[in-house]
Amino acid sequence: PVVTRFAPSPTGYLHIGGARTALFNWVYARKLGGKMLLRIEDTDRERSTEAAVSAILDGMSWLGLDWDGEPISQFERADRHAEIAMQLLAQGKAYKCYCSPEELTEMREAARAAGKPPRYDGRWRDRDESEAPEGVKPVIRIKAPQSGEIVVEDQVQGRVVFKAQNLDDFIILRSDGTPTYMHAVVVDDHDMGVTHIIRGDDHLTNAARQIVIYQALGWDVPVMAHIPLIHGPDGAKLSKRHGAMGVEAYRQMGYLPEALRNYLARLGWAHGDDEIFSTAQMVEWFSLEALNKGASRFDFVKLGNLNGHYIREAEPVRLYEVMVDTASELGRNADYLGLVNNKTTALAAIPELQPRAKTVLELIDLAQFIYTERPLALEEKAAALLGEEGLAHIAALVPQFEALQDWSVSSIDACVRAYAETSDVKLGKVAQPLRAALTGRTVSPGIFEVMVLIGKSESLGRLKDQAA
Ligand code: GLU
Repeated sequence: PVVTRFAPSPTGYLHIGGARTALFNWVYARKLGGKMLLRIEDTDRERSTEAAVSAILDGMSWLGLDWDGEPISQFERADRHAEIAMQLLAQGKAYKCYCSPEELTEMREAARAAGKPPRYDGRWRDRDESEAPEGVKPVIRIKAPQSGEIVVEDQVQGRVVFKAQNLDDFIILRSDGTPTYMHAVVVDDHDMGVTHIIRGDDHLTNAARQIVIYQALGWDVPVMAHIPLIHGPDGAKLSKRHGAMGVEAYRQMGYLPEALRNYLARLGWAHGDDEIFSTAQMVEWFSLEALNKGASRFDFVKLGNLNGHYIREAEPVRLYEVMVDTASELGRNADYLGLVNNKTTALAAIPELQPRAKTVLELIDLAQFIYTERPLALEEKAAALLGEEGLAHIAALVPQFEALQDWSVSSIDACVRAYAETSDVKLGKVAQPLRAALTGRTVSPGIFEVMVLIGKSESLGRLKDQAA
């Protein structure tokens, strides 16, 4: 059975690249009826925080990515990592190195002077422990192959060959007995029964070192798939402005989880030209072979279009809840209270707003006409639409509206059309000033719908505020 894992370091939020890695691992496990495990790589005690762990779990839950079993803490497995390092030592596949920091600095500087990458020269590989300096706690280094090649058979990158001579005898256990990252990952993946490692291609060189450890232990190397990182629209490293943010920032910007999921799947994986697909389809269609070899570029326009699609598809009741939660989370009190106190109207209005919004924030903005307080503060562009002529139309229409018995879209529509016809003006010349006076905006749902939603007396009040 397939076992994948997502192994974030809890040093910050769940960033967008991590979310995509989690998604691919999740989809692959779901597709093959396997498991996706979650391992928190919290060995860096200085930088790991509980808050980051919660942010990662929350981000995954929000995206609908569940994991199997309890999250595993890498830090808590330190004894096991040490045990395996000792086993390698006992088997002569690793050795104690007593180099002083000064010696290591010297080695690094000599390499630099020779224009070579820093490399441990293996000076303790064959030395006897009796030569150990007193009072020095050794590190444990693995005996890496000194010639030949280390080959990563990667599902995305293909066959990637590393020359053994470029890899040194790296440390697996520090002098304080804690494991290095490289070593911990291998022991954990093995113990967790991981069959497939899908992660960012920034780990590709680590993969070569990890294979050295697998081979020393005689363990099977999992299938590896190193996916290209996400770049900005300019092809450069993804910057904050271009999307390098935590998933909670996307939630706060008003993206729906299904839209982000769909978008992330398209960032580095493709199923023909399909842009929009459900999670079920993604699970059905996913394959490692179809992962892209080239870097993908983050594109807010595409994400926005997808989000617009999912907003149109969503149930109004759910959107209402997301709007309320978002307004609350962002501390937008007036919007929060307006939505909560006008639930029925908001629910009735949402189908009118759905085709006009690409984010939940836009939905909230578009809903403001429901609860905005009189007299309305008009946007500049809306105020410009009113003008003398517009105000005259409104003044003429107010008594006609007052006389309407039936306050419905069709009767208001008929009334305004008849007025426009008798006054020999285009409908828009009347509708636009009405919109400005009734919503304070130049964009809103159909203006007759707006009038029905807010009701007759509120509508007349707003119109009179302007035309008085
Ligand atoms: N903890 C690593 C990271 O956050 C991932 C390690 C791995 O997937 O092997 O980049």
